[in-house]
Amino acid sequence: MKIVLLGAPGAGKGTQAEVLVKKLFLPHISTGDMFRAAISAGTDLGLEAKSYMDKGQLVPDEVTVGIIKDRISQADCREGFLLDGFPRTLAQAEALDTLLAEMKTSLTAVLNISVPADRLITRLTGRRMCRQCGAIYHLLYNAPQKENVCDVCGGELYQRSDDKEETVRNRLKVYETQTAPLIAYYQEKGLLHEINGDQPINEVMVELGQALGQKWS
Ligand code: ADP
Ligand code: AMP
Repeated sequence: MKIVLLGAPGAGKGTQAEVLVKKLFLPHISTGDMFRAAISAGTDLGLEAKSYMDKGQLVPDEVTVGIIKDRISQADCREGFLLDGFPRTLAQAEALDTLLAEMKTSLTAVLNISVPADRLITRLTGRRMCRQCGAIYHLLYNAPQKENVCDVCGGELYQRSDDKEETVRNRLKVYETQTAPLIAYYQEKGLLHEINGDQPINEVMVELGQALGQKWS
């Protein structure tokens, strides 16, 4: 299966992706995670990406499409993959279609996780991530058992610098203008499934399963 998870920042893409990829045995490809890894490694890509991420802007399409091209042409993606946070612009969606056509394949499904805009700010400002393994938490909705400590690996939890309220507001504007048009793009292609993201994490997972023809509870 070749799946795209679509949705505003804070909709729950990363949270659902963590579980979905284990259930479906797919590589999890998150452009945001790839940029954060490049920033930690101090590479040129990281330096460039950081200058946009800190302002809540999108990293330019040429850069982002380039890293996706390299990643999905790797052997572990031949049978399928889960894209999380890519594509985010029409140009990226068209580039992805071209890349997949060159590989003589196409997308299986696009899952659009919808959450009312007024919930997204609380979700993003309360998000905490594990510095070590990248697991996602929320101070209120998905709190770790021990404050500031990852349940999975014991790593330290931190707040992403782009999850500060001012940057979050900009990211949500960028989503509305640049990414939301992808909903109509994929609807026209008959690939879109609407998922209600405004319900408990486990229930969102059940809806995702139904959309993918999987029976899990
Ligand atoms: P995205 O990857 O779409 O930006 P995340 O998966 O990182 O979103 O989720 C954003 C925040 O919302 C995180 O703190 C996460 O724990 C929390 N969250 C995710 N799904 C839900 C949900 N269904 N209900 C409440 N909070 C959620
Ligand atoms: P995310 O982890 O998906 O919330 O992404 C964090 C940030 O990384 C975004 O606000 C962008 O600055 C950048 N980013 C991630 N994915 C993309 C993409 N597909 N196109 C452009 N920028 C991206």
